[in-house]
Amino acid sequence: MSLSRTCVKTVRFLNKHTVGLDLNRYRGVIDCWPNPRNAICLTFDDGPSGHSTFTILDELARHGVRATFFCTGKDAVAHPNLVQDIVASGHEVGSHSVNHPHFNNCNLRQVFSELAGSRRILETIGDCPVTCFRAPYGSFRWEIRPLSRLCGYQHLIGWDVGPIHDEIDSSAIADFVIERTVAGSIIDLHDGLTDQSAELSSAVSRAAAGSLRRILPELISRGFIFKTVSEQLTRSEASEEPLSA
Ligand SMILES: [Zn+2]
Repeated sequence: MSLSRTCVKTVRFLNKHTVGLDLNRYRGVIDCWPNPRNAICLTFDDGPSGHSTFTILDELARHGVRATFFCTGKDAVAHPNLVQDIVASGHEVGSHSVNHPHFNNCNLRQVFSELAGSRRILETIGDCPVTCFRAPYGSFRWEIRPLSRLCGYQHLIGWDVGPIHDEIDSSAIADFVIERTVAGSIIDLHDGLTDQSAELSSAVSRAAAGSLRRILPELISRGFIFKTVSEQLTRSEASEEPLSA
């Protein structure tokens, strides 16, 4: 058996047996930073959404907080004005693929297409650099790091504080986040819910927006400072190494 064929078989084996295990650090995925300055990141997936993204932007502005929105290409095309509002408000746009597939069910050509296509769509609509990628469902296959570099991404971003993705109780979301956030955390909320009914997606996104009314003042009162992912990376690279959760 040739060396290349052996390598392909090895990566297939690793994808089948290790996705879901806590191996993000070895896959090049950043889940949090050991940040002594109390800096944290607030991120949103599966948007932008006509249900709540504008409400979230209002709530963030009220508290002077900037966040990172991991948008899907298809939702960006559906709501280009919201992507532009996100950028105009000083937030960061990251990529969450075009169609939100589970990468374990995709071949490499499809993965590459999702990576390249979403960056192209988001940079065109938002007129902003898109340097960070978060895989749908957190399915960071071993091949994603080299493919993402080929597509122009600099960083793969996970999270260490993530309430259940279909939680519709804003108090439960707030309790979860407030209890678990530590210096360097990356918080993962949803301003939409791809691949689910419009009704559930709306409920989830409204719950996330509602949870911010407690999360933001509480974490600010504890001395946490909100940074976009790229801001945090710039500080981190100048001082300390990022860690996986
Ligand atoms: Zn997602």
